Amino acid sequence: MKKKAFKAESKRILDLMINSIYTHNEIFLRELISNASDASDKLYYNALKNGNTGLDRNSLAINIKLNEDDRTITISDSGCGMDMNDLENNLGTIARSGSLNFKQESEKRDDIEIIGQFGVGFYSAFMVSKNVKVISKAYGSDKAYCWESQGADGYTISECEKESNGTEIILYLKDSTEDENYDEYLNEYKIRSIVKKYSDYIRYPIKMDVKKSIPKEGKEGEYETYIENETLNSMVPIWRKSSSQLTDEDYNNFYKDKFYDFEDPLKIIHSSVEGAATYNMLLFIPSKAPYNYYTKEYEKGLQLYSNGVLIMDKCADLLPDYFSFVKGLVDSQDLSLNISREMLQHDRQLKIISGNLEKKIKSELISMQKDDRENYEKFFKNFGLQIKYGLYSNFGMHKETLQDLVMFHSSSENKLVSLEEYVSRMKEEQKYIYYVSGESIAKIEQLPQIELLKDKGYEVLYLTDDVDEFAIRILMQYKEKEFKSISEGDLGLETEEEKKEIAKKSEDNKELFGILKDSLGDKVKEVRLSTRLKSHPVCLSVDGEISIEMEKVLNQMPNDQNIKAQKVLEINANHPIFNRLVSMMDTDKEKLSSYAQILYSQALLIEGLSIEDPVAFSNAVCELMI
Ligand code: ADP
Repeated sequence: MKKKAFKAESKRILDLMINSIYTHNEIFLRELISNASDASDKLYYNALKNGNTGLDRNSLAINIKLNEDDRTITISDSGCGMDMNDLENNLGTIARSGSLNFKQESEKRDDIEIIGQFGVGFYSAFMVSKNVKVISKAYGSDKAYCWESQGADGYTISECEKESNGTEIILYLKDSTEDENYDEYLNEYKIRSIVKKYSDYIRYPIKMDVKKSIPKEGKEGEYETYIENETLNSMVPIWRKSSSQLTDEDYNNFYKDKFYDFEDPLKIIHSSVEGAATYNMLLFIPSKAPYNYYTKEYEKGLQLYSNGVLIMDKCADLLPDYFSFVKGLVDSQDLSLNISREMLQHDRQLKIISGNLEKKIKSELISMQKDDRENYEKFFKNFGLQIKYGLYSNFGMHKETLQDLVMFHSSSENKLVSLEEYVSRMKEEQKYIYYVSGESIAKIEQLPQIELLKDKGYEVLYLTDDVDEFAIRILMQYKEKEFKSISEGDLGLETEEEKKEIAKKSEDNKELFGILKDSLGDKVKEVRLSTRLKSHPVCLSVDGEISIEMEKVLNQMPNDQNIKAQKVLEINANHPIFNRLVSMMDTDKEKLSSYAQILYSQALLIEGLSIEDPVAFSNAVCELMI
């Protein structure tokens, strides 16, 4: 029989598996039991859909058999089974979706995350086995097949005999070494404890023959042994238990197993609700954003159960987009078992539940922000962008829900602050919530406009994500305080006297500003004296709706419009360059045009924009130097 090679991705994962990326190789059992349970679910669900309600859950038991002589563990189910194609497609390759792009860096952690998200459970069998046989018969088929593999070098598939539908997985354990004891997996106690630890909630009985002994009647000290086929798991789904019965480890194991994560969740939300809708919910906020989170491939949704039976794997209607990172499940007795997707969308109960979930998630996040700041910051670093998109989307329809969740970097604290925190410590005379946007915090800190605000002791929010300024503009104000970009319009910083002085100087030098503006043509809307500079000579500000950062963002998007911010070149009246310009009106008027170009180019560079004619700029500077 010809051996087939694994597809490339599978081979790579196998290598990783075998080099034990999982810290505990005992999880192989959890993975195989999960698969058996899924296969039973599929069969049960299909039967229900076809009107066959007579199926007995107990008949879908998962069996574990230990054979010390052959050193094998056999895990079998009576689920949907696999035909030859399934075996080939499901076990011969992993990246079925075709979207898997492995990061090439050999850093192990990255690999782990990716693998976790794809759930390559089956392959974990190779962590403990030197040979794996999968004997499977698909439901409704009369042929059975045997898939066999010794690891990375490939697999074979051949026809074989199997009485009833389902799958039997036979693991031939590796030989124990000094470092690894594989023989412990032949021990009933060990297996029982692994099942309890990871798979207790599985809703099908997990059965195993166990040796029991009772004292022999009338013969003290002697025991009679017998074999009992025992159910090892309690079968109560974890979400139906009360949280006082559960440890963090229970939740974490359940989460990692069910939602293919390698890390514990950041937050667990578990409650049962009675009222207009009655349901249990168990929600998790992951510690890290899945690698495809900010792509179209990511699918949001919660598992939906009706009275303990899974009816939908990813019910998107339960979660608004801005909370799409939440994983978990909802179990409600109010939903009918064979409700279709289309009907679900209009289901009144489901609407009530999703409304409640949204409130609950928000309130949990708010209390995390207040009481568990470190974790909230972790959360925000991963999912804050999604919250900000949510704020901006639909013309700010959800701003009431989301405005308290957003945070921005602050000039005074050098860390993330909420809007509430900002407003609560605004100075008495401070009119606005000031913000500035830029590529990075380091670049923002160098902007000339920052200096004066800092001098006054005003806090400035640093906006570094593309969406930030759009979100802020949709918000317009927070607690009746208006947002104000420090590069825009009147910042309300100067006293009446200072205002008068600037107005006078502007009036006195009207001609000068006219010449400067004319030299720059339509590159700028105006050249004027600045009210936002302290020690720097020039800066750019804008008039109108589009800021310079927005101009950059909008022009990166694929469209043929050339969107322009209306730029204003501002000159610092207290800088020697201003006096120089004034005196040039008498002595060097013809050079003013070249100065205007240089000052404008400098202002562009400061803003992180490119200058239109770098050669002319360089020549102009040299001319000054010689
Ligand atoms: P995952 O379970 O995350 O999809 P696995 O590598 O564990 O990944 O399994 C791959 C696929 O093989 C499953 O999606 C399923 O279609 C199939 N499979 C695995 N075990 C069984 C089983 N016991 N019965 C039926 N199908 C199975």
